[in-house]
Amino acid sequence: MIKKILSVAAMSTALLFVPIGCDDDSSSSAKAAGPVIGDSISGSGRLAKEFFGPIRTPSGGAPQSIGEYALGCIVGAEALPETGPTWQAMRLSRNRNYGHPVLVDYLKDLSVKARDQAGWAGLYVGDMSQPRGGPMTSGHASHQLGLDADIWMLPPQRLNLTRTERENLSSISVVSSDYLRTNNNWTNGHFKVMRAAASDDRVARIFVTPAVKIAMCKTETGNRDYLRKIRPWWGHNYHFHVRLNCPAGSPNCVPQWTIPKGDDGCAYAEEFYGMHIAKTIPIPKADPDAPKAKPKLAKTLARMPAQCAPLVQ
Ligand SMILES: [Zn+2]
Repeated sequence: MIKKILSVAAMSTALLFVPIGCDDDSSSSAKAAGPVIGDSISGSGRLAKEFFGPIRTPSGGAPQSIGEYALGCIVGAEALPETGPTWQAMRLSRNRNYGHPVLVDYLKDLSVKARDQAGWAGLYVGDMSQPRGGPMTSGHASHQLGLDADIWMLPPQRLNLTRTERENLSSISVVSSDYLRTNNNWTNGHFKVMRAAASDDRVARIFVTPAVKIAMCKTETGNRDYLRKIRPWWGHNYHFHVRLNCPAGSPNCVPQWTIPKGDDGCAYAEEFYGMHIAKTIPIPKADPDAPKAKPKLAKTLARMPAQCAPLVQ
């Protein structure tokens, strides 16, 4: 039984998690194993996050997302206003409330839907991107193109939180401590917000903890097409992560593979759920003959798309 679950997990990892690294905000489980090495071509190659992290303002220019979701940057980003009629940006000290104008518009629209469809006051919006995108000094493999945003699972009680309150308030987890099921924090309002979030044509994917995907699959009785965009991923218990498609006018934005229509991904979520179960049982000792993990290339400025370096130099 254990072996079976683990082999399913291994197969899923090998076959299904092909694309660009998804975000991993809090847990280490999604991080690839193996050492990180410098860029062998550029030699010294300083890490790109050292350049992008300290910059406090966006660049000028027509908005353009450049590169991959987990290795790229953004020209002409726009700030999500810190407070709006139906949203607040959280953790302002991080200065990560920037994105492509399409993302800013999307978040404003979704916050109105959260109010109108779910009866929430609006949304608490977590990390988007740094002012010029790029790798961050902490957390997040992705969020580099101004096209990703984390939305808190905590339904806002108030939308007049002070800066300090926005630093100290915590979101809530909507799953049990063993990750196997949704807990009492998960409501029909969450279902409606996530349905609205994923049904939008601007959205490529939404990452969320597997138990939530399964809950969405079980609750939906109407059109199931949007469900395919909701992808189970580690972490994402306290927020869900929205990723938009490459927008018009960004010819160097690298899209992820398109999720085919016709499969709602619910069976896949059950499979992924098996991986969570696998995590809760003792894992057999690693096979000493297993091939070594490939070393991961460090995200140096030299490895960034050519148009990104001028943004920070
Ligand atoms: Zn995220």
